[in-house]
Amino acid sequence: MVKKLIAGNWKMNGSLAANQALLAELLQGLGQPACDVAVAVPAVYIGQVQGLLQGSAIALAAQDVSAHDAGAYTGEVSAPMLRDCGVRYALVGHSERRQYHGETDALVAAKAQKALAAGITPIVCVGETLAEREAGQTEAVVKRQLAAVIHTVGACVTEIVVAYEPVWAIGTGKTASPEQAQAVHAVLRAQLAAASTQAAKVQVLYGGSMNAGNAEQLLAQPDIDGGLIGGASLKAQDFLKIIAAA
Ligand code: PGA
Repeated sequence: MVKKLIAGNWKMNGSLAANQALLAELLQGLGQPACDVAVAVPAVYIGQVQGLLQGSAIALAAQDVSAHDAGAYTGEVSAPMLRDCGVRYALVGHSERRQYHGETDALVAAKAQKALAAGITPIVCVGETLAEREAGQTEAVVKRQLAAVIHTVGACVTEIVVAYEPVWAIGTGKTASPEQAQAVHAVLRAQLAAASTQAAKVQVLYGGSMNAGNAEQLLAQPDIDGGLIGGASLKAQDFLKIIAAA
């Protein structure tokens, strides 16, 4: 079994003062975690959070990355810039980016490739909407989303992290049951194994209303290697409980 990864996704939340308070409480309660831990923070706070996390067991993550390295792309932040600022992971293809910013499978794959090239581990998010699940398309959707990345990054597939996040479970309080999540994780695991003999080392995270109460059961599933946590990562004690469950 691979080491688990618990990654918080702060989304568009925080302030200089709130970030400092949250991280102080987290670092105080963290001890020596048995799993990898990361927090994905708004781009504007990356510098601040890098300073606060220096020398700690929490890695710095970005919530997005540009598909371009430099140049006339107003508003974008490139992978080399993120790396320069101590970023270790970057979310790519979060469903909110796909939904509200029109990110396609091809763009998500290009972002993953740029992250890898800069020495950043992309956390590739995949997941079906409720309509897709009800239409019986869950497997086809997540496989299509992951296939685009596998096709683009080739042998580097062993360097990515995958996060299965059913869109209907994100921020809704409706968690996938451990069985529902495990079923999709097994599909993704098989797809990774078909792409590389080394794919067993790829962490496949679950995300979508994971919290202090349901984390243990989800993380006990054989193919769930961690969590991508939104709402519950903004509460230090809840996030610490999830880390402890891993
Ligand atoms: P949630 O968000 O834990 O608030 O459901 C998860 C995510 O979007 O990464």
